[in-house]
Amino acid sequence: MSLGSESNSHCHLTATGPGEFWCPVCGQRCTQNSTSGIEYGHRLDCDRRPSELANPLEE
Ligand SMILES: [Zn+2]
Repeated sequence: MSLGSESNSHCHLTATGPGEFWCPVCGQRCTQNSTSGIEYGHRLDCDRRPSELANPLEE
């Protein structure tokens, strides 16, 4: 097992679509809304995570 690689636990991580990017801070594949500019997909503790974004774990 390789704990340093997340590529085996997800599918199609190499493909990035419009607005998608790899966050250099949290390492997650994020998506930026082309209209609002809000970035989705950051880890909850990521510095680039929009503060106005609701915490999905608290719903
Ligand atoms: Zn991030």
